[in-house]
Amino acid sequence: MAEFTLDLNDDQKQVRDWLNGFARDVMRPAAAEWDEREETPWPVIQEAAKIGIYSLDFYAQQFFDPTGLGIPMTMEELFWGDAGIALSIVGTGLAAVGVIANGTEEQIGTWIPQMYGDANDVKVAAFCSSEPDAGSDVASMRTRAVYDEAKDEWVLNGTKTWATNGGIANVHVVVAVVDPELGSKGHASFIVPPSTPGLSQGQKFKKHGIRASHTAEVVLEDVRVPGSCLLGGKAKLDERLARAREKAKAGGGDRVKNAAMATFEASRPAVGAMAVGTARAAYEVALDYAKTREQFGRPIIDNQGVAFQLADMRTRIDAARLLVWRASWMATTGKPFTSAEGSMSKLFASETAKKVTGQAIQILGGNGYTREYPVERMHRDAAIYTIFEGTSEIQRLVIARTLAGMPIR
Ligand SMILES: Cc1cc2nc3c(=O)[nH]c(=O)nc-3n(C[C@H](O)[C@H](O)[C@H](O)COP(=O)(O)OP(=O)(O)OC[C@H]3O[C@@H](n4cnc5c(N)ncnc54)[C@H](O)[C@@H]3O)c2cc1C
Repeated sequence: MAEFTLDLNDDQKQVRDWLNGFARDVMRPAAAEWDEREETPWPVIQEAAKIGIYSLDFYAQQFFDPTGLGIPMTMEELFWGDAGIALSIVGTGLAAVGVIANGTEEQIGTWIPQMYGDANDVKVAAFCSSEPDAGSDVASMRTRAVYDEAKDEWVLNGTKTWATNGGIANVHVVVAVVDPELGSKGHASFIVPPSTPGLSQGQKFKKHGIRASHTAEVVLEDVRVPGSCLLGGKAKLDERLARAREKAKAGGGDRVKNAAMATFEASRPAVGAMAVGTARAAYEVALDYAKTREQFGRPIIDNQGVAFQLADMRTRIDAARLLVWRASWMATTGKPFTSAEGSMSKLFASETAKKVTGQAIQILGGNGYTREYPVERMHRDAAIYTIFEGTSEIQRLVIARTLAGMPIR
C-alpha cells in the first residue's frame, strides 16, 4: 500500500508537464472562442485524442496510479487550461466509469471503445441520471425501464436533464427505475447504443459557465435496447432486487448502502481537483496583474489590501489540494471514509474556486469584469463545482450525517 506523499515521482512529473503543455498551448488559446460559441470543441478533443489525452487507456493509467495522485493531477492541469473544454474532454469518462463500475467485461470491451471513437473520428458519451424532478433527490427518479421478456428487450421511457454530452453522444448510459417500490435500490443502468430509435435531444441549455461543454435534456420514448444492454446482466439485477426486497421487508428502508456512498466519496475528489485547477488559474492571473498594474505610483500588490487577498487565495488553494490529494489517496489505498473525507474535499475545493475567482476579478478591477481577461470566464466556470456531483449543501449533509453516525438517505 502506497504511503501518502506530497512528492510527485519522475513519471508523474512528466505526465503533469505534458498535460500542462497541452493545457497552455492548445486549450488556453481556444478557450474564449469556444466559450462564446457555446459548442463542443471537437477540434480540440481531436487534438487531445491524437496525443493520447482523450482515451480510456490514459485515464485507466492515472486511475490505477498506486499513489492516488494520477487523477487529481490530471484534472487540475486540464481544468487549469480551461474548464469548459476540459469538461468536454473528460465528460465521456463519467459514462465510462458508469460502465466500468456496473458492467461485465464483455460490456466494457464492447461499449467503451465506441464511447471514445478514435483520433480520426472522435466520439463522446453521456451519463444520464438527473431528471427535472430528481436532482439531489435521486430516489425520485421516474424514467422507467420495463423488461419485454418475449423479445429479451428493455423498453425505456422518460426525460433526463442536465446530461453532459446528452443527445450528441455516440453512447448514452441511462439510469432508470426497474422497481419503483425500492427507491434508489430499484434503479439499474442501461446502455443506449448509437442511433437507437426513440432517443432524442431535448432542450440544449444556455449556461452561465463551462459553455464549451454541451448540456442538454435527453428524451426517451419507447426506446428498445437488447437485454445485453442492461449493465451487469439480468441475473445480477434479479439477485440485487431480491436482496433489496428482503431488506425492505425487514425494515431496511431506502438507505443508501455504504458501498454506494464509498463510490461517491471516491469520485468527488476528482471534481475537487477540477476546482483547484480553475482556482489556481485565476490566482496566477491575479498575482501577475497585481505585480504589474501600477496605481498611485506603485504596483497594486504593494497595498496590503491586495497582497493579503493573494495570500488568502493561495493558502485556500493549497489547503484544497491537500484535502483532494488525501481523499484520492484514501480511495486508492482503500482507507475507509469515516468522516466523509471525499465530500469534504469537494466541498472545500469547490467553494474555494468560487471565492478565489471572485477575488481575482476584484484584483483586476474593471479589466477583471471584461471578457478581455480570462478571470471573468473562470468565475462563471467555477460556479458549477458547487452544483454538480452533489451540491455543497448535499456535501455538508453527507459529512454531518457521517460524523453523527446517521444513515445517508
Ligand atoms: C452543467 C451541468 C452538467 C451536469 N451534468 C450532468 C450529467 O452529465 N449527468 C447527470 O445525470 N447530471 C448532470 N448534472 C446534474 C447535477 O448533478 C444536478 O444539477 C445536481 O445534482 C443538483 O440537482 P438539481 O439541479 O436538480 O438541484 P436541486 O436538487 O433541485 O437543488 C436545488 C437547491 O436545493 C438544495 N437542496 C436540495 N436538497 C437539499 C437538502 N436535503 N438539504 C439542503 N439543501 C438541499 C441544493 O443544494 C440546491 O442548492 C449536471 C448539471 C449541470 C448544471
